[in-house]
Amino acid sequence: KEKTLAMIKPDGLFGSYTNAIKEIILDSGFSICKEMTIHLDEDTVKSFYAVHSSKSFFPSLVNYMTSGPVLIMVLEKVNAVADWRAMIGPTDARKAKVTHPNSIRAMCGLDSQTNCVHGSDSSESAAREISFFFKEASSA
Ligand code: ATP
Repeated sequence: KEKTLAMIKPDGLFGSYTNAIKEIILDSGFSICKEMTIHLDEDTVKSFYAVHSSKSFFPSLVNYMTSGPVLIMVLEKVNAVADWRAMIGPTDARKAKVTHPNSIRAMCGLDSQTNCVHGSDSSESAAREISFFFKEASSA
């Protein structure tokens, strides 16, 4: 089995899509191994999306991602990374509504920024993102 990191972004929580999304997740055969609701601060978002730090949309992305709480989950199933990416649909929710009408972003996203959910894009990203948010508390 494989693990991936899923996140319901602030617009998803504000829009009360959490239960609908969780139902889709469980109906699709994933188990939810871990979850936490957290209001991300600026530094955490900047670090999580560091790869986009030079993009023109970065300041706006940081505003969006700190605009309210997010729900972060570790999902597990065979082929979890690719299957969750397929289920969320394209980054731009406007496109998703046309090309992937059954995707989660088509259901609850708005545009290329406000797109409701996140999913790790590779197993390497999944491992990095899971330890980023769920670092085991070690007895140092
Ligand atoms: P995520 O990493 O959140 O699952 P993704 O892999 O589909 O999304 P990325 O290209 O990694 O998309 O972009 C990360 C996030 O940055 C997007 O989910 C979106 O919120 C925001 N973003 C991406 N492209 C744009 C854009 N052109 N304009 C505004 N925001 C954008």
